[in-house]
Amino acid sequence: MRIAVLGTGYVGLVAGAGFADFGNEVTCVDIDAGKVERLRKGEIPIYEPGLEKLVQHNVAEERLHFTTEIATAVGTAEVVFIAVGTPSAHDGSADLSQVLAAARDIGRAITKFTVIVTKSTVPVGTCSKVEAAIAEVAKVPFSVASNPEFLKEGDAVNDFMKPDRVILGCNDTRAVDVLKKLYAPLVRTNDRCLVTDPISAELTKYAANAFLATRISFMNDMANLCERVGADVELVRRGMGMDARIGNKFLFPGVGYGGSCFPKDVKAVMSTARDAGWPLQILEAVDQVNDRQKRVLADKVLRKLAPGVAVEGPWKSPPLADKVIAIWGLAFKPGTDDVREAPALSIVKRLLEAGATVRAHDPVAMKTFEQLISSTVDKHLLTRFSIHEQAYEAARGADALCLVTEWHQLRRPNFAKLKTIMRTPNLFDGRNTWEPSEVRELDFGYEGIGRK
Ligand code: NAD
Repeated sequence: MRIAVLGTGYVGLVAGAGFADFGNEVTCVDIDAGKVERLRKGEIPIYEPGLEKLVQHNVAEERLHFTTEIATAVGTAEVVFIAVGTPSAHDGSADLSQVLAAARDIGRAITKFTVIVTKSTVPVGTCSKVEAAIAEVAKVPFSVASNPEFLKEGDAVNDFMKPDRVILGCNDTRAVDVLKKLYAPLVRTNDRCLVTDPISAELTKYAANAFLATRISFMNDMANLCERVGADVELVRRGMGMDARIGNKFLFPGVGYGGSCFPKDVKAVMSTARDAGWPLQILEAVDQVNDRQKRVLADKVLRKLAPGVAVEGPWKSPPLADKVIAIWGLAFKPGTDDVREAPALSIVKRLLEAGATVRAHDPVAMKTFEQLISSTVDKHLLTRFSIHEQAYEAARGADALCLVTEWHQLRRPNFAKLKTIMRTPNLFDGRNTWEPSEVRELDFGYEGIGRK
């Protein structure tokens, strides 16, 4: 099948390369000429395990192409995917400007019956808006479907190739048949395709992300309660997860959820619900708990290193002025260089505002974090911030080490070595990754999230 994919970000690039790997002829289009140029040279603009090999292999086999010219790509395609960004607008709703611009471009470029699919995460009713935008300019028949993407960064290739489910939201059986044929090789072992109306498909994606975010905020709230009543959330979590109705996934407390999806999708579905006259009260709380959770680790550092001082500024003098804090992990989760809405940003910013010197390390997200922080944090604060290629180098001379992202390589560090290079051996484990008894035996101060 001939396919065009608009947008070569985390979703579009994985989908394009994935479909090509099943023998389809795929052209990926992006308005970012620099990105397309890099992709043509075989350079992958994002870090995603397995993606580089997949792209390079399919480019070499001449099934995967990159261009900025939408007309050439779309004109010959049977199926066109829209995988552009849907960031938060100021009021929390999803900003559809990229999607609708892409739709109009597609409308002008189609030359025969084409199935146009929104893969971007879009609010209910967007399918109709896309349809209307295309209809304004198209001269040939077309059909629009909603096919939300459920891949997770860090394991995106695997998720795309072996999806738990494929949701096809479309009222036109001709388009559904085309899409079922396209997805058949990915869902061979059993039929994991669910055909729905477009609105239900659109809402399914938000409902799924909002539910996962709810589990995280629930566990974060519970962890904070554990600390106050003397329980250990790691035991509580395991006990809860043994119940088959609950299951043991997504019950890990931490420093709050981040990334390009959960924060914006929770806000977007809340906005949809308010407009529909049915505010989602649970999600209002999920969002608030998450904002609060992003402060918890820095609060712990402040309490330990500046005892007796209020954790909230403004302070008469910066409470961490003579302190050095190491941060391990900047990406919003392991396996990606994505730092959008990463809790690390709130933590680092807060520590810098409290006067600390911050030395950070991440195995792959150093460059993306540097770009993010330099565009969002005051320059005078950044004089006390540095990023280090080596994890131990970041910890050198530190009064506290905060684990913010639980990369594999940071899970079993050499604690004896850490002890010799840190100025004061304090560990703040934002992911409950290290064993408290083991590190306390080595005379580290240890605080996790909701642990004894
Ligand atoms: P991204 O920001 O990484 O990539 C979007 C790309 O679209 C950019 O390269 C941009 O230049 C390009 N673009 C914008 N307008 C264009 C146009 N008119 N034509 C061609 N290209 C255009 O975004 P992403 O993370 O891949 O997310 C895309 C969508 O998928 C969002 O709606 C997101 O919510 C959803 N989603 C993301 C994930 C994820 O893990 N990142 C998972 C599931 C769903």
